Amino acid sequence: MKKAIVIGSGVSGLSISRMLTDNYEVQILEKSDKAGGLIKCDRIDGNLFHKVGGHVFNSKDTAVLNWFWQHFDRDQEFLKATRNAKILLNNKLIGYPLENYLYQLPENETRAIVDELISMLVAEKEKDTSYDNFKDFLIGNFGENLYRLYFGPYNSKIWHTDISKVPLEWLDGKLPMPQIKEVIISNIVKKEESTMVHASFFYPKRDGSQFIVNRLSEGQNINLSFNVDEISVTTNNQLAINNGSIVTDLIVYCGDVRKLNSIVSIEDNILKATLEAVTDLPSNGTSNVLCETDDNDISWLYLPEEKFKAHRIIYTGNFSDTNNEGTNRKTCVVEFSGKQDQETMLEELKNLPGNLKPLAFNYEPNSYIIQHKGTRSKITELKTSLAKYNIYLLGRFAEWEYYNMDKAIESAMELNRKLA
Ligand SMILES: Cc1cc2nc3c(=O)[nH]c(=O)nc-3n(C[C@H](O)[C@H](O)[C@H](O)COP(=O)(O)OP(=O)(O)OC[C@H]3O[C@@H](n4cnc5c(N)ncnc54)[C@H](O)[C@@H]3O)c2cc1C
Repeated sequence: MKKAIVIGSGVSGLSISRMLTDNYEVQILEKSDKAGGLIKCDRIDGNLFHKVGGHVFNSKDTAVLNWFWQHFDRDQEFLKATRNAKILLNNKLIGYPLENYLYQLPENETRAIVDELISMLVAEKEKDTSYDNFKDFLIGNFGENLYRLYFGPYNSKIWHTDISKVPLEWLDGKLPMPQIKEVIISNIVKKEESTMVHASFFYPKRDGSQFIVNRLSEGQNINLSFNVDEISVTTNNQLAINNGSIVTDLIVYCGDVRKLNSIVSIEDNILKATLEAVTDLPSNGTSNVLCETDDNDISWLYLPEEKFKAHRIIYTGNFSDTNNEGTNRKTCVVEFSGKQDQETMLEELKNLPGNLKPLAFNYEPNSYIIQHKGTRSKITELKTSLAKYNIYLLGRFAEWEYYNMDKAIESAMELNRKLA
């Protein structure tokens, strides 16, 4: 059997390595001393801490769902929930997505928004829908008022970047494209939104996404604390890792694509140029705090207002009671964009609802990829030049795509078909 090395044991690496075992002898190399990448969790005095992401699972793709449920007993091992997301505006909880809950806003806001939406509806036929960037798309679809109230401040906060520079191709399949008529009808008939991927979701009964990591790791050959810092080609056209300490026929790289330029040592000018072209792609990080909170029934709470530094509270303690084993209250995670010092975060907790008590902190420097115009074509060119050497890219930071877990699995399935 041919040998394959998978670099990275996040959900992408764990998924592709399971898929490749039909045709390859697979080994995973992971620089951290624990598998899981972004979806790793810790227990803090009995309470579950999602250190970064991968909180809930669902997919719109039947093939992804079928593959995923081959590895788990959905009814015995998972809980199913319907999202109850809220937006905190003017100290009031408003339903999510905001455009479906306009009737919960103060009357003057509702009037301004509806006036604008109606005039947009009248002009819809002549509307130019070829938006150039994310900001124009949001204003074009939701109007200036909803942009001012929610879409602008929330997205600028979480992406920590000028969203007028973010191209629209990035959005492919990520956001539902609401029809204004449907927005108005939803507000009248008070219909719950159900098209978003996490409108309902699955969550492990125990250990959150760490449970997913543990199950997908079972039976796999994972070499922890192994940092891949060099990849070269041998004289008989195989791939050598870290000065030949491992030789393989194929590599799937699930790490940060920006670092490949200093890892790949192959004399090929085209490859070099394509590697250099991606070294400065921008990304964003997340600081977060695991907290105890007062009881509520919310899944997650968005905090668009500038007066809050945090952008979201995820009530992870509501996803499974087993997440709160160290407290007689509930737990949640408060998220901040970028690096925040602990004092700022502690001050902020006092302003947020729920009488929050901090239990643990984490900072992940790379949690969100930011795409600009041309990013996708740079990655496509790099994929082509790497494929000549049997090196493939997979995952959120390797393909520079805003993947959730299901999209990472979908991409692994596509790569597996290519390599079979
Ligand atoms: C705040 C937040 C919330 C999220 N919530 C959800 C959610 O609710 N549902 C959902 O489906 N998705 C969610 N996601 C997305 C989800 O976390 C990602 O899609 C997924 O974790 C990406 O996995 P990955 O394997 O592609 O990358 P990673 O998890 O980053 O894995 C890459 C791995 O490669 C290893 N590595 C890198 N370089 C090397 C090297 N040179 N040598 C050896 N090892 C290396 C790293 O240590 C890491 O373990 C969320 C993401 C964030 C940031």
